[in-house]
Amino acid sequence: MKTIIEPFRIKSVEAVRTTTIEQREEIIKSAFYNPFLIPAEDVLIDLLTDSGTSAMSSKQWAAMMDGDESYAGSKSYFKFEAATKKIFGFKHIIPVHQGRAAERILFTFLLSDIDAEGRFVNSGSTKYIPNNNHFDTTRANIEFNGGNAVDLVIEEGKHPEVIHPFKGNMDTNKLTEFIKTTGAKNIPVCMITVTNNTGGGQPVSMENIREVSKICKEHKIPFFIDACRFAENAYFIKIREKGYEKKSILEICNEMFSYADGCTMSAKKDAFANIGGFLAMNNEDWYSNCKNLLIITEGYETYGGLAGRDMEAIAQGLEEIVDESYLHYRIHSTKYLGDKLTENGIPIIQPPGGHAIYLDAKAFLSNIPADNYPGQALTAELYRLGGIRAVEIGSVMFGKYDKDGKLIPADMELVRLAIPRRVYTQSHIEYIIEVLCEIKKNKDSIRGIKIIEEPKFLRHFTAKFGLV
Ligand SMILES: *Cc1c(COP(=O)(O)O)cnc(C)c1O
Repeated sequence: MKTIIEPFRIKSVEAVRTTTIEQREEIIKSAFYNPFLIPAEDVLIDLLTDSGTSAMSSKQWAAMMDGDESYAGSKSYFKFEAATKKIFGFKHIIPVHQGRAAERILFTFLLSDIDAEGRFVNSGSTKYIPNNNHFDTTRANIEFNGGNAVDLVIEEGKHPEVIHPFKGNMDTNKLTEFIKTTGAKNIPVCMITVTNNTGGGQPVSMENIREVSKICKEHKIPFFIDACRFAENAYFIKIREKGYEKKSILEICNEMFSYADGCTMSAKKDAFANIGGFLAMNNEDWYSNCKNLLIITEGYETYGGLAGRDMEAIAQGLEEIVDESYLHYRIHSTKYLGDKLTENGIPIIQPPGGHAIYLDAKAFLSNIPADNYPGQALTAELYRLGGIRAVEIGSVMFGKYDKDGKLIPADMELVRLAIPRRVYTQSHIEYIIEVLCEIKKNKDSIRGIKIIEEPKFLRHFTAKFGLV
């Protein structure tokens, strides 16, 4: 059969609330045109993020009942540890409450010198951390510690319309050049993000991971993977990279991580969990330092800020995420949305990524200049017209100011439609397509956005906006 169906059936449902356009106009105004400030109850289809929004399976819920809440040496921790080792293979696993906690611990350690009393003395300003594209929290954790986050994605990855099977790849020539000019001693770690969330949920090839790993080894730079969507990346390798057609997803994952010295992971993504994450590594010394930081703010090493039941949900989720029939459905459902939008002349990052479709707001709302934030304007219209919540990934998220306070825009003005795992059905997807086609009809009347109030870090979460 040609029809690809959801490889599950629904046992428990959650009602969604319908509102009128007039109600939503009021709601978005009182939320200062920031989707993060809209109460979730007022959202019809929530595509803000695929993070922590997955539907858990009956087996995950059952496992949660079996959670062991012992402070130390919980049975659930050992299950969690075994499940992570099976896929990632690293010696040491540090559980954390979510991905950014793993980043905070790793970068606090790597961007410090340690004094005679074992205290961390920040030395971030002299250090550089390359990545294909740093995710916003990764960049923020590096910059907050005074370090420099550098993006080295391949040129194709910066152009929404360009088709490439692995647009998330790192430019290895640029990496080699970067190491030469910066000096390996100033690069405490090199990272690669799979799939490349910031660049459009685009995959990284096995060949690229292998090459980056080789370059890092030659220069004795440790190599870490930001593993949030490792299973989706593995599926893309299976269907797009020669030599992997017959390999299982687990085999592909094992190979991907065999090239790395460690990883950061948000279990809110490819582990079907509503909360959780981990930091994994092979190096003993790094492990003992990171564990100290963990214990100061997160918790003891066998729970790291998670309940035993959360670790159960993650362990079971990791079993389920490497199931090929799930990934087949997942990637095709995202592709369906992307292909339909393309057919209707709505510009998106090509080809469709794994967990999300990224609308190219710069091309779509070409009448709105960068300093009137076309991406933010599009999120406001998606909500107003269709009750759909999405997030801007453009100059609101990544824009900077020059010394005169003028906006230096981001490379791209995107709006991410992130698809929660196992949550929405085919007709929800059809509805999203219809709303975007309606927006297209009246796109020239959409107004730009200005910033009224903003914090210094991660401003998109809490900034307040108004219409121009
Ligand atoms: C979500 C995400 C993170 C951070 O994880 P949280 O669980 O949200 O803290 C880091 N990197 C990437 C690529 C992500 O998508």
